Amino acid sequence: MPAFQEYFDPSHQMVRDSVRRFVEREILPDINAWEEAESFPRELYLKAGAAGILGIGYPEALGGSHEGDLFAKIAASEELMRCGSGGLVAGLGSLDIGLPPVVKWARPEVRDRVVPQVLRGEKISALAVTEPGGGSDVANLQTRAVRDGDHYRVSGSKTFITSGVRADYYTVAVRTGAPGFGGISLLLIEKGTPGFTVGRQLKKMGWLASDTAELFFDDCRVPVGNLIGAQNMGFACIMGNFQSERLALALMANMTAQLALEESLKWAKERQAFGKPIGKFQVIKHRLAEMATALEVSREFTYRQAAKMAAGQSVIKEISMAKNFATDTSDRITNEAVQILGGLGYMRESLVERLYRDNRILSIGGGTREVMNEIISKQMGL
Ligand SMILES: Cc1cc2nc3c(=O)[nH]c(=O)nc-3n(C[C@H](O)[C@H](O)[C@H](O)COP(=O)(O)OP(=O)(O)OC[C@H]3O[C@@H](n4cnc5c(N)ncnc54)[C@H](O)[C@@H]3O)c2cc1C
Repeated sequence: MPAFQEYFDPSHQMVRDSVRRFVEREILPDINAWEEAESFPRELYLKAGAAGILGIGYPEALGGSHEGDLFAKIAASEELMRCGSGGLVAGLGSLDIGLPPVVKWARPEVRDRVVPQVLRGEKISALAVTEPGGGSDVANLQTRAVRDGDHYRVSGSKTFITSGVRADYYTVAVRTGAPGFGGISLLLIEKGTPGFTVGRQLKKMGWLASDTAELFFDDCRVPVGNLIGAQNMGFACIMGNFQSERLALALMANMTAQLALEESLKWAKERQAFGKPIGKFQVIKHRLAEMATALEVSREFTYRQAAKMAAGQSVIKEISMAKNFATDTSDRITNEAVQILGGLGYMRESLVERLYRDNRILSIGGGTREVMNEIISKQMGL
């Protein structure tokens, strides 16, 4: 009989242990205060950089480690989620959507200058695709970049950008050509470039610790050397980037559900009503059993798609399915968790209150549930 193939090996366990220690030492003591303050100290990037966490999954030559080892990245992301704040994870992790196009397609001199600084936590990277006019219809984006000698002149605006206020390097989707997906490019735009301003930090339902902002470009002159990939080939780069973002969001949803389940189980054993722990009522016992079952299925399916992705297979349809399944599951489990905790589940002092709010973005960001279903049905020939 063939040996059972585990997704994680002992080296991944070491990554897990070290990130868990980092979370316990550097994040958990302060996370409630940071959530209330709707920000976390910039110094945390430097600490995460020094601990080697930001570099996981990136080339060693640029200051990273575990290049090509997707399950090391997964182990690290899952452990970071144990801080219980999706906002902190999204903010600290915005490099994982901003930086990959720079690593893969930027000019070597730009890549070699930018990437090591971000992996050390000295600079912050963000991805700017969404515009006030819409986020789902990427092919229709309106921010325009017109070639003028050795510069592009960029005009337009972006919104809902994670790490938007304090990023240093923005990977920005712009229109350099004709309408439609064939006229899009990616440009690296640096904080401080004349004509580029950052708007206010937007107030949100959840992900409170992350900064989310609008960006404005008013005849902003960006050197041609900051083009990422070939001109008018940006759409393919954006879609490629979405695959790993969608996997990351599915993993986040599974971890959100995991934490909500753990909190619910603990409470079901502790909380007494009508003379017994509430977990002894069949309705609650079965609810917990169903939550655990749904989560196991979701996690297994997500890992399976990650394993196929790591093996170089195309999983465009399956990653969209994983994101939708995981976020459906986390929607249900966070909702049930609030119910099981009763009034306490509605209080800021309980973790499930935050999990419930943070979870809501997961079926919107990185492509909405409806957009995932469009991709799935297209792949089914519809
Ligand atoms: C906290 C937060 C952080 C974010 N971070 C970033 C970031 O770092 N970078 C970035 O670029 N963006 C970011 N976003 C933006 C996010 O990716 C978009 O909000 C998302 O893609 C949806 O775009 P939209 O909000 O413009 O909604 P719209 O595109 O206007 O969609 C509105 C509704 O219409 C539905 N819809 C649209 N098209 C179809 C269709 N064809 N069929 C059926 N239904 C459809 C959508 O599913 C949705 O329900 C962030 C958003 C939030 C809230």
